[in-house]
Amino acid sequence: SDHALVYPAAPDVMDWDSHYPAFAGTGKTPEFADIGCGFGGLLIALAPMFPDTLMLGMEIRVQVSQYVQDRITALRATSNAPPATDSTIPGPYQNVSIVRANSMKFMPNYFPKHSLSALFFLFPDPHFKSRKHKARIISPTLLAEYAFILRPGGIVYTITDVKGLHEWMKTHLEEFPLFEPVSEEQLREEGKGGILDAVYGSTEEGKKVERNAGEKWLACFRRIEVPRA
Ligand code: SAM
Repeated sequence: SDHALVYPAAPDVMDWDSHYPAFAGTGKTPEFADIGCGFGGLLIALAPMFPDTLMLGMEIRVQVSQYVQDRITALRATSNAPPATDSTIPGPYQNVSIVRANSMKFMPNYFPKHSLSALFFLFPDPHFKSRKHKARIISPTLLAEYAFILRPGGIVYTITDVKGLHEWMKTHLEEFPLFEPVSEEQLREEGKGGILDAVYGSTEEGKKVERNAGEKWLACFRRIEVPRA
């Protein structure tokens, strides 16, 4: 249950310095958010690719979020630091952190308006039964929040092995006026191939789907500048 969780009253009271000590005082806030990050495979894959970009995982399960926390602490402690001559580069994995949170609640309390450039929903829980669809992590109400925290041009990445959930996420995003579909080819042309490869293959769930030779359905959307007329 998530009843005991405490949420920040607003993004500016979030203590990002304690999450990212190497970036303390820079005023930076997370730019990538991995919703329902599970065991953290995506964050760990992306962290070295974008060493100056802060990334945050959100995970509701106690043990799983603790596991990711411990994993990050260990990686920070054991990874090779950059040469001491260049003090401007923070050590590896300093840019990645996690909060235990129900991401269906209070997302705008964590992330300032237009602060995110990427939002990830990788292999979210399908909630197969219709009466459980309201528990899905993509819905018109939540899309309004995602549009608020994403900057114009920011990308929503979704992937799942459940065709029905793929259709659900795609349809809701297509129908929402502040998002437009963007193809995998287009994103690769824009230099986001590394991100896409990580979306497909870096997470524990993605690897499981591969082991079972399952299909993966990707759908990506761009936060647009103004609503379509
Ligand atoms: N994204 C990871 C991956 O690809 O390996 C995990 C996928 S797993 C099927 C879904 C994860 O979402 C679980 O770890 C679950 O605990 C988490 N989750 C489900 N609902 C959530 C919520 N409302 N807030 C935060 N995390 C949630």
